Amino acid sequence: MNVEVHPRPSKDALTSPVIASVGVVGAGQMGNGIAHVSALAGLGVVMVDVNPAALEKARGVMSKNMDRQVAKGQISADDKQAALARITHGTDSALLGDCDIVIEAATEKEEVKRAIYKSLCPHLKPSAILASNTSSISITRLGAVTDRPERFIGMHFMNPVPVMKLVEVIRGIATDEPTFQAVDALARKLGKTTATSEDFPAFIVNRVLIPMINEACYALHEGVGNITSIDTAMKLGANHPMGPFELADFIGLDTCVEIMHVLHDGMGDSKYRPCPLLVKYVEAGWYGRKTGKGFYDYSGETPRPSR
Ligand code: NAD
Repeated sequence: MNVEVHPRPSKDALTSPVIASVGVVGAGQMGNGIAHVSALAGLGVVMVDVNPAALEKARGVMSKNMDRQVAKGQISADDKQAALARITHGTDSALLGDCDIVIEAATEKEEVKRAIYKSLCPHLKPSAILASNTSSISITRLGAVTDRPERFIGMHFMNPVPVMKLVEVIRGIATDEPTFQAVDALARKLGKTTATSEDFPAFIVNRVLIPMINEACYALHEGVGNITSIDTAMKLGANHPMGPFELADFIGLDTCVEIMHVLHDGMGDSKYRPCPLLVKYVEAGWYGRKTGKGFYDYSGETPRPSR
């Protein structure tokens, strides 16, 4: 039997909007990466964050990450300057009024994202696509609070965005075909490969990945192994490039806990309950690399387990 994997090309696909300018809401680890790859692909970028310090930090991070690409011969110094010059930023969402697409990459909390869409939508041009980089929250539910559920979609980049090849594209129940095609084409323009996921809690990557990290936390909690032995076991025993704790610190422990909550609430299955030890790290403010401490402490030359 032939199984149709990809959506049937429709004549609507021919009318998919061409994207020349990208707005990014949230200038954290993901937002700066999305701005970085968009600007290098020749697109105009407007980056907005409530926190001016996050915007300044994002510019510094992008510059440093592009320096790395220059050193590796992947881009020229001129490419870097031209890309950075394509990025403007500010704290006012009205700055996003001319963007063809706005990709929201703010904190992984549904109430934060809802509040952003409420204040953002009146500024957007009618044809603009609104995408969320959410790791787990229902695209259908988020789209329903906007004025454009048919032009609302999940565009889930991986961290670090300039390095990781995948973008998961998630259609909400109302997302239309031109929006899907436009976002798929944009991801490819940014040098990414797409995988299409249906709109179920945490989609594909995090449905599998985050419960594995949560399970590693239970193994630590129960004393099956310590941080170093569990990370070493998974790197050398399962051929993972990073151990689960290194990876959790990279993702952000706050984000990991939020994703477990989404899985737990959405699936109603106790196997998705967040590990109390993981929750405790988050309560301590130990979010991982972005705060300098998580399962590892990053204050020294080399990371060492923080307890
Ligand atoms: P982060 O904490 O590094 O950055 C979040 C940014 O959002 C902060 O700069 C914050 O100031 C900003 N913000 C908060 N409220 C805002 C508002 N109302 N308006 C504008 N900006 C606001 O988080 P992150 O790791 O970059 O994650 C961002 C999103 O990307 C989340 O939805 C997360 O689930 C998703 N994501 C994260 C990863 C990862 O590995 N970290 C991977 C894929 C997707």
